[in-house]
Amino acid sequence: MSDGDAGTEDAPERCPICETAYDSVSVHAEGVAVNLIENERFRRVCFEPIEGDGGAQVRFYHHTHEQAGTTPSSECGTPGGRVP
Ligand SMILES: [Zn+2]
Repeated sequence: MSDGDAGTEDAPERCPICETAYDSVSVHAEGVAVNLIENERFRRVCFEPIEGDGGAQVRFYHHTHEQAGTTPSSECGTPGGRVP
């Protein structure tokens, strides 16, 4: 395993935001642009702020169309009850 992805190693089995299985997870410590309009592979990406080794980071959970389309969970809201 690589030694630079500490934030992905302890990622939960399911997305903590929408509780759906995800295809992959990535961690970002800096700004990043996301454009999923008509994305062929992924339908949704959930963002989870975490406290990483070097400070604040954001985990990205990538859901494919198939994964996102089969969830009974809500697609809006957050664990804190806020609506983005
Ligand atoms: Zn999710």
